Amino acid sequence: MRREKLPDIFGSMVFDDRVMRSRLSEKVYKSLKKTIDENAKLDEDVANAVAEEMREWALEKGATHFTHWFQPLTGVTAEKHDSFITPSPDGGVIMEFSGKELIKGEPDASSFPSGGLRATFEARGYTAWDPTSYAFIKDHTLCIPTAFCSYSGDALDKKTPLLRSMQALDRQAKRILKLFKVDAKYVRTSVGPEQEYFLIDSEMYEKRPDLIYTGRTLFGAMPPKGQELDDHYFGVIKPRVTAFMEDLNNELWKLGILAKTEHNEVAPAQHELAPIYSTTNVATDNNQLTMEIMQKVARKHGMVCLLHEKPFAGVNGSGKHNNWSMATDSGMNLLSPGETPYENAQFLLFLSAVIKAVDDYQDLLRLSVATAGNDHRLGANEAPPAIISIFLGDELTEVLEAIKNDKPYKGKERELMKLGVSALPRFSKDTTDRNRTSPFAFTGNKFEFRSLGSSNSIACCNIMLNAAVAESLKEFADVLEKADDFENALHDLIKNTIKEHERILFNGNGYTEAWVEEATKVRGLSNLRTTVDAMPHLLDEKNKTMLMAHKVFTESELKSRCEIMLENYCKTVNIEGHTMVDMVRKNYLPAIEDYLYNLAKTTSLMKSVSSNVKCNYEITTMERLSELTDYILERVKDLEAALEALKEYDDILKTAEAIRDDVIPKMEHLRKHVDEAEMLTSEDCWPFPSYGKLLFSVY
Ligand code: ADP
Ligand code: MG
Repeated sequence: MRREKLPDIFGSMVFDDRVMRSRLSEKVYKSLKKTIDENAKLDEDVANAVAEEMREWALEKGATHFTHWFQPLTGVTAEKHDSFITPSPDGGVIMEFSGKELIKGEPDASSFPSGGLRATFEARGYTAWDPTSYAFIKDHTLCIPTAFCSYSGDALDKKTPLLRSMQALDRQAKRILKLFKVDAKYVRTSVGPEQEYFLIDSEMYEKRPDLIYTGRTLFGAMPPKGQELDDHYFGVIKPRVTAFMEDLNNELWKLGILAKTEHNEVAPAQHELAPIYSTTNVATDNNQLTMEIMQKVARKHGMVCLLHEKPFAGVNGSGKHNNWSMATDSGMNLLSPGETPYENAQFLLFLSAVIKAVDDYQDLLRLSVATAGNDHRLGANEAPPAIISIFLGDELTEVLEAIKNDKPYKGKERELMKLGVSALPRFSKDTTDRNRTSPFAFTGNKFEFRSLGSSNSIACCNIMLNAAVAESLKEFADVLEKADDFENALHDLIKNTIKEHERILFNGNGYTEAWVEEATKVRGLSNLRTTVDAMPHLLDEKNKTMLMAHKVFTESELKSRCEIMLENYCKTVNIEGHTMVDMVRKNYLPAIEDYLYNLAKTTSLMKSVSSNVKCNYEITTMERLSELTDYILERVKDLEAALEALKEYDDILKTAEAIRDDVIPKMEHLRKHVDEAEMLTSEDCWPFPSYGKLLFSVY
């Protein structure tokens, strides 16, 4: 399929508003719309009517099954397929799908993580239709986006708290808007997630157990050429990759996902895809789908799509940028400064709310992106540091300074870009010059949270962001609603917020040591370096209080989530550790042994032919390699012992700490020796494809 046909294929597999309007009766459509837009209760008759049309539509599109599609806490999506077929009394079959089946499902949930929320004897969980995210067809299956909860109503997924956080923000933002005499039906947050990924050749992939088991390479010496030439970034896209991207776009477009830009990234074999933004819960569903489809389509093209945050040591890892804003139903972007930000009090108030939220809940934002994989990136000079701060750019910073000091703000003349070539049109410099080192940057009319790992669900950080901003807005509304003089109260509120929270504002280079010093020692910002450092803060009193007050989480949900995230971390590293042991014992040591045998045999043969040969190369290589095999043996035994020792702990936090402090350093130590041995060993003897082969074999 070619691009010209885009309008025909776009959304062709989605039961979207166009389809609903054309297929549902006016009464049913209006009622459903009310549920979607205003959270009105869904009528049973309406559900039945929608289900019937959905089924008809799906059958016309060739679907045979339906599934409630949900996002358990494993981080991937889950589905359980049921066919539409029901036996009819005459021995044939009829295709059935009722309103009940649309609204509610009961998957056996016992093998999804619940962090103690659900005893195994009540294995049942419920899935409930989320009518605000459109149903779609994938692999002949009608997928119904749903929320997933336990028998007792605790959320077991990422969508439920996300929807709750959106409601919390909606509630508080409307209170503020009312004070500005803006009548909004709803306020919703929108997200455009930019997704980075690697593409490597499947043949190479299949030969690397570390990639297969863990998604990243656990060993591998640096290739002679890495990313130092910067020739890959925005470079010409290779034909195989172009074919993949075309195919991917088509698949995404069919599902109504607005994949828009695509380009090469900094590292070799690394690419990025950005969709056009949409409402946060839809964007979350779409990003999950995008990741799934990327992997499927890559396979069709003889490649594997790696979504791990750090597939290759020494090469830039992959992240995801969460572009976030708030808008009303009439499309008013609450983070849009307009022509004169200084005079735009409403904008300044919402901006202040975000500044306050990010400062007050730095720890929640940090932990919302914490995984074992992302620990490799944050603070490693390729991604924003684990310290959260906000970049506002010069112009806005000056506006805020003026307000803080009660000084008039002299609007900056828009600087003209001088390109020195008269034929080119002149345009004004983007005042939000892009500081890529900031984890949380204002980019014109939205904030870009850049700490996410490439495989993260965007649900987690948006839950925290929405909830924290809802809390700021609530505190603001509490003050402003009581004020006798709105104008003055507003001015004071903005001014005080800037004063109290200016420590979180930082326009400089976030990658430097000096910033780490200043941030932690002078400004008192938190620097939660690893998942293990960050995660327990989920249960800090101030965080629990806020999240529970806005009904985003219950206390038991928070406890269970903290547990599950730490468990996830432990399992991930544990598998990595065992994979290393396996590869070393079964492959690396025997391979080096083979090469040593070659060297030894060659040396003695050569010496037997002539007593004049020195065999310097053979002998020194042999000596060093033999030394290395001894080290490797010691290090692998150390690692085995450290992994074994984990079994002694029955507390998940203790286990995670031991992994951070004991297992991971031992893994790194072992790797160092194996990578050195790789540089000394003949490629023919080496058991796995090199970094060079992995990174440069797609053309
Ligand atoms: P970058 O320069 O960071 O690569 P891009 O323009 O490629 O930026 O991507 C920006 C992303 O932000 C896109 O997904 C875009 O749809 C999204 N975006 C644009 N405006 C908004 C907005 N108001 N709210 C949320 N996301 C937005
Ligand atoms: Mg970006």
